Amino acid sequence: MIVQVAIPSPLYALFDYELISDIDPIGCRVKVSFGRQNLVGVVLKVIEQSEYKKLKNAELLDTTPIFTEDLLKLGQWIAEYYHAPIGLVFRMMLPQKLRKSELYERSSETYLTLSDDFPIWLEENKNKKARVMLVEQLAEHVPIERSQFCELFGNFKAHEKALMADGVVFHVEQYPKVWDASVQHFPILPYVLNDEQQKAVDAITLERFSVSLLEGVTGSGKTAVYLELVKRVLGKGQQVLILVPEIGLTPQFIERVKNILNIPFVVVHSEVNEHQKLQAWEAAKYHTVPLVIGTRSALFTPFDRLGMIIIDEEHDGSYRQRDTVRYSAHDAAIQRAHLLKIPLILGSATPILETLHNVERERYQLLSLNERAKGQIPNWQIIDMNESMIMDGISIELLNAIEATIERKEQVIIYINRRGYSPVLMCEVCGWVPECKACEYRLTVYRKSHSLRCHHCGHSEILVNKCPSCNNALLKMHGQGTERIEKALQDAFPKANVIRFDRDQLKNKTAFENAVKDVIVGNVDIIIGTQMIAKGHDFDKVTLVGMVDIDGILYSSDFRAEEKLAQTLMQVSGRSGRDVSHGQVVIQTHFPEHPLFTELPQQGYAKFARNLLEQRQHFEFPPYEYQALFQVEGRNEQETLKAFEGLMQSLDCRDFLVGITPIYPNSLSKRQNYYRFYVVLQSKSRKALHRLVHYLMQSAANHLPSQIRHFCEIDPWDFD
Ligand code: ADP
Ligand code: ZN
Ligand code: ZN
Repeated sequence: MIVQVAIPSPLYALFDYELISDIDPIGCRVKVSFGRQNLVGVVLKVIEQSEYKKLKNAELLDTTPIFTEDLLKLGQWIAEYYHAPIGLVFRMMLPQKLRKSELYERSSETYLTLSDDFPIWLEENKNKKARVMLVEQLAEHVPIERSQFCELFGNFKAHEKALMADGVVFHVEQYPKVWDASVQHFPILPYVLNDEQQKAVDAITLERFSVSLLEGVTGSGKTAVYLELVKRVLGKGQQVLILVPEIGLTPQFIERVKNILNIPFVVVHSEVNEHQKLQAWEAAKYHTVPLVIGTRSALFTPFDRLGMIIIDEEHDGSYRQRDTVRYSAHDAAIQRAHLLKIPLILGSATPILETLHNVERERYQLLSLNERAKGQIPNWQIIDMNESMIMDGISIELLNAIEATIERKEQVIIYINRRGYSPVLMCEVCGWVPECKACEYRLTVYRKSHSLRCHHCGHSEILVNKCPSCNNALLKMHGQGTERIEKALQDAFPKANVIRFDRDQLKNKTAFENAVKDVIVGNVDIIIGTQMIAKGHDFDKVTLVGMVDIDGILYSSDFRAEEKLAQTLMQVSGRSGRDVSHGQVVIQTHFPEHPLFTELPQQGYAKFARNLLEQRQHFEFPPYEYQALFQVEGRNEQETLKAFEGLMQSLDCRDFLVGITPIYPNSLSKRQNYYRFYVVLQSKSRKALHRLVHYLMQSAANHLPSQIRHFCEIDPWDFD
């Protein structure tokens, strides 16, 4: 037969191959030779005839399809909607282990069973108490997964060999059983759902497509609603996928799922190893677990019977991928729910304006949780930095508040979204500023490690103590990052335990989780953190949140700046006073009159965001119009710009429905030795926009010199 294959190359087409197969190969992987390489592709179509005469042979790697039908469609949707090379999309959807050209066979588990005449063995071995006990237990459980039995009876391993030698215990290799909903008894909840929670649960119709926004401040009980919904779906013998932000997957959350549901589930995130990822993939595909919790790429888990998708913290930026295939897992998940005709829940205290717009248009259902289940909404105190006394970037008011809080033995969070000691080093005499050569961007000072680092490419060099340009030693550091705030607070409160939460300090999940533990048990008084601290941790003893140096984003030209800062302000301030009645938030700014500081605290996010939405409509920005970004990058600045200009001029199908901005350099105009330029395309009509993007991508592929690269991003979120 002739098959059309998606091949992992930056090309947009499918490729025809000859295949010998006695099964329907759609959704199976094949090994193909492509150019001079051997690659693993995915069969998407079987066709009668090819335009090409001489077809090469493909070799089948699977005996049953690897891709479920909905994922096959989803992959094609992503390729089309995001204008991404289809082979790269399908490669991205596979677990690493299945990207290799190896035959795949489902892995089996070792089970334990007993010989038929085990009662005789029991008779004869009465004196071996421990072994008798194990065999008696086994008799009640067999066949049981060996690993599960070992978990129940830690001493089994010590006796296993002897029992097997006696011929009473056997290993059998078999596939794990499909999870059986009918044997499930959910534990009784430690609380009853309040009216709003119950209403939200009841409003979701299963087995039908719908999108619902569960809007509620931190601590309003969204997770409780998710878990109740999970129970309902599981009760129907279906499975659930919960997507969470990259850092939002806390041990606390996992612990709650365990306690409230008491079911087997798998967790998938960037630090789970490839073997575990494949295990999770199989567990979902063969329905041996009913629940998968994971970050962005978990969206591509195959399920036997997926019945619901939940996206927690739907506003989170980590649902967007910004390399290779530029897509939003948030939007792709909605597409998947649509394909499967199942409900999807978006949960957030600070939903994005796109989501709120869809609620207004009645495309999404709104479920609000207004009562905070526990604790109270904190008070905001705005500090005018033009007026205040300031020490190392911290106002006297904030210092006093910190002092009072730690005296009460409560905890403090100081949020500053900038790593390192100081963002700018400058020669006081000649104005020299150290820059990264590859990115033409100033280097951040790290004092502890005595280095200068680039936050865009990771380049690092030794911190100089003399100006290399004029040889003076008058180098001054301007501004502060987490490291500087940490030092300042350590100096100000020498007895306090200060901990820093940022990517430099907590390099992996384990370090992060240990730090969280330290906070929870109360070993820490002051937590200094970046964005990392803004995500769903239940730090009960935190009663003060200070926000330092947040004005930066207000200077940016991003039309979403206010929305993003409002989300951050709400998320971070939500960390305060989760469990007690007095939460306090201190915000330092040079713009105390800005609506973000005067209106947001009074109105709350829900109202504030709806006002922003009106402004968007007035200024004709998304979500009222649609955008795409088209970017061109090259090593030679002039050549790149010229090529880009040439491309835009040659665009002869200009569509009056689509507006195009002039060519701009990116705000970080050079990155890793590439000069970057972009245009934004905008239209009221999605169709017209996509038509033009398609045309532009084709012209770019045909006309741009090969050393100049290009890409597009649909519904772009950041313009850096
Ligand atoms: P969110 O996910 O919106 O931040 P959670 O579901 O984590 O909120 O709930 C916050 C806290 O309130 C948790 O400690 C949870 O156990 C508790 N909680 C949730 N719902 C209820 C309820 N109906 N009655 C009592 N406590 C509740
Ligand atoms: Zn100098
Ligand atoms: Zn750099």
